[in-house]
Amino acid sequence: MKKQKWHTDHAYGSVKLSYLIKRPLFRLRTNYQVIEILDTEAYGLALFLGGDMQLTQRDEYIYHEMISHVALFTHKKARRILIIGGGDGGTLREVLKHPVEKVTLVEVDRHVIESCRKYMPAISDGAFDDPRVEIVIGDGARYVATSKENFDIILVDSTDRIGPAIKLYSKKFYEACKNRLGKNGILVNQIGMPFLFPNFLKEMTERRGSYFASATSYLAVVPSYYGGAIGFGWATNENLRYDEEFFRKLAQRFKRSGINTRYYSPHIHKSSFVLPPVLPGYSAVAPGH
Ligand code: SAM
Repeated sequence: MKKQKWHTDHAYGSVKLSYLIKRPLFRLRTNYQVIEILDTEAYGLALFLGGDMQLTQRDEYIYHEMISHVALFTHKKARRILIIGGGDGGTLREVLKHPVEKVTLVEVDRHVIESCRKYMPAISDGAFDDPRVEIVIGDGARYVATSKENFDIILVDSTDRIGPAIKLYSKKFYEACKNRLGKNGILVNQIGMPFLFPNFLKEMTERRGSYFASATSYLAVVPSYYGGAIGFGWATNENLRYDEEFFRKLAQRFKRSGINTRYYSPHIHKSSFVLPPVLPGYSAVAPGH
């Protein structure tokens, strides 16, 4: 009987998640992290950074559709997009479904892009070769602090608050993002698992709130992420009214766009901002009311 191989992800302090591995495809220690691409029995190809699972072939579309389409369908004419992190190319793939003019992707570790292009090409699905795309290898915090470019939307598709990503949760970073965004500008960043780390959600929402007109968060369920729903931090330079009219027009924009999605829809968009009372940012008034 062939010995089974398992990869264990340090999901959460006292909890470990183990994945049965069909075969390992790639492993490299870079200046920033250990990159592993493994073919798992349950979720197909999966990317691990520093031992932590980042995405799987089976459910990555949920995360990538929700980090991109919520902002792109809210912003009525988003043309210039900045993605920080996102070296696997999944967020880029979804953003390019929209009639955007330019997408700048700033990834600190070139090896993530190269290994995902080679071993998980379906994730980016040719997005890295799109003429609208500019790839910058470098630190996202430094980029927003030094760039003179303006953007309509900034999507921070980074690892959790460890290693090179720590700066991407700082006040300085949020302030710099504010300055890089136009008057209808929107900032979205993945903020981990709110049910496991509610204080972190609160801290980050307040931190964004001190620089932006409005700050809240929305949720999505990604089965391969341990801990229930993943949270996305939401901040806008404009105080938007999420009333019935807003969602009626959003649904029209979605229909007119002809963009195919498997998880995102205008109803999912609306319900994703409905937070349970236990979570900070809960509001008794649900969007659309
Ligand atoms: N979906 C994943 C998640 O939810 O955890 C994120 C995946 S994506 C591959 C994360 C990327 O952020 C990694 O490729 C990592 O190298 C990149 N990253 C981390 N810190 C960064 C920084 N300061 N600037 C730019 N990219 C960064």
